[in-house]
Amino acid sequence: MTSRVYNFSAGPAVLPEAVLEQAASEMLDWRGCGMSVMEMSHRGKEFVSIAAEAEQDLRDLLGVPQHYKVLFLQGGATGQFSGIPMNLLRGGERADYINTGSWSKKAIKEATKYCQVNVAWGADEETPMHIGAPSEWRLDPQASYAHYTPNETISGVEFHWVPDTGGVPLVADMSSTILSRPIDVSRYGLIYAGAQKNIGPAGLTIVIVRDDLIGGALPQTPSVWDYKLQADADSMLNTPPTFSWYLAGLVFKWLKHQGGLEAMAELNKRKADKLYAVIDNNPFYSNPVDPACRSWMNVPFVLADGRLSETFLSEAEAAGLTTLKGHRSVGGMRASLYNAMPEAGVDRLIEFMQDFARRQG
Ligand code: PMP
Repeated sequence: MTSRVYNFSAGPAVLPEAVLEQAASEMLDWRGCGMSVMEMSHRGKEFVSIAAEAEQDLRDLLGVPQHYKVLFLQGGATGQFSGIPMNLLRGGERADYINTGSWSKKAIKEATKYCQVNVAWGADEETPMHIGAPSEWRLDPQASYAHYTPNETISGVEFHWVPDTGGVPLVADMSSTILSRPIDVSRYGLIYAGAQKNIGPAGLTIVIVRDDLIGGALPQTPSVWDYKLQADADSMLNTPPTFSWYLAGLVFKWLKHQGGLEAMAELNKRKADKLYAVIDNNPFYSNPVDPACRSWMNVPFVLADGRLSETFLSEAEAAGLTTLKGHRSVGGMRASLYNAMPEAGVDRLIEFMQDFARRQG
């Protein structure tokens, strides 16, 4: 007998219950081979088939063109903050970054170890609650690449459009938005994401990179960070995070079964819209982000009377609505609504919020 809560964590985050059930049923004996996926050699035929199928399903879901590699790596999105300049500078010395919040800033800080960073927009912004129009961006046509963060997980600022960087390869940290909707991969030079939000368990990092951008890593690049070496080794230059890879594969199958990314986009938009509607229509709650760039995935909000926050959180917890505390840097509340958060969970949260406001307001 299990008793599951609605978990609004920003990551590691809720996983589809059907996926966890399948993993549980296959835990001791994966499809008659007499062992767990965790116990298999990554070079054995069983795991190699699991790995290949997961890659194919991800390619199908996102429509990844043939001339892109899909890598299954480790080190988190944070590892890629350095992996990207090490691989993509390709003899250049400059890169563009857009600053839309905390994760952009971390990417920028790491990149400055490797190159001259031009913050093309947001250099003076402490915590932007909007995204500057492209006419305000000061992009450098000579940059080796241009990096942005499509969804800022902490502040809940999300791009609902794809920047046009001309011939400069566009690089996107999609950690908290990948698979939430269809995307046109061909608009990007590189997409990366830590798995622990919309893909699977922590420990796996996905990199999708256009073929012509790899093969020119800085000479001192550690081999495991070299996209070309990893691509040539099918992401198995060393032992990959096998169980996370397998579980991500189950999530990809589940997504296909749900109707793919069009269906997820429809559901995710509906979930976010109804939560923002409650926040906007009740003076008890507020969200400071420009409505044009509010995140579908991470919805931060504060109470009109901040002294009630602790009571809100503890009563929510008692009602089976967990991990709603906002990031320590901003406080307040944050509800993360990744693919695996059922609409019923959002409905329950909304009911709770309305009831709490009635009682305390
Ligand atoms: N980028 C974004 C947008 C994130 O949300 C996070 C994690 N919250 C990171 C990067 C860092 O990811 P990791 O912990 O996988 O290094």
